Amino acid sequence: MQQTGGSILSSQQASSDIIFACMHCSASFVVDAAAAGLTLDCQKCSKPTIVPNPALEAAAGNSIKISELQHQLKENESQRTEITGYINQLSIQLHRWQLRLQTLKERQQKLQTELDAIRVPGAK
Ligand SMILES: [Zn+2]
Repeated sequence: MQQTGGSILSSQQASSDIIFACMHCSASFVVDAAAAGLTLDCQKCSKPTIVPNPALEAAAGNSIKISELQHQLKENESQRTEITGYINQLSIQLHRWQLRLQTLKERQQKLQTELDAIRVPGAK
């Protein structure tokens, strides 16, 4: 078994470090960003553990967020279409009732006029 860990990484000066925990013993380590995605032997339990890649994880998080937002957008759009449909239906219905009301008013006037014409003035 080779004793590795920090020895590979110490040759490079870290621009940004990655802090991660061993997947076996959960011991925390700080490695150079260049080690992202590499498999290293844990300094504590000596088992190989994978250094997480923050860039990949961020990208994966973004793609989840993107598909979630696209899903919500699609759902919103279908609800919008549904409500617009209801409004259109009710607008047509409202127009029909208004026409019907107008017809009834005209009929009332006509009937009233007929009634007034038949009534003999003075005959109670
Ligand atoms: Zn370990």
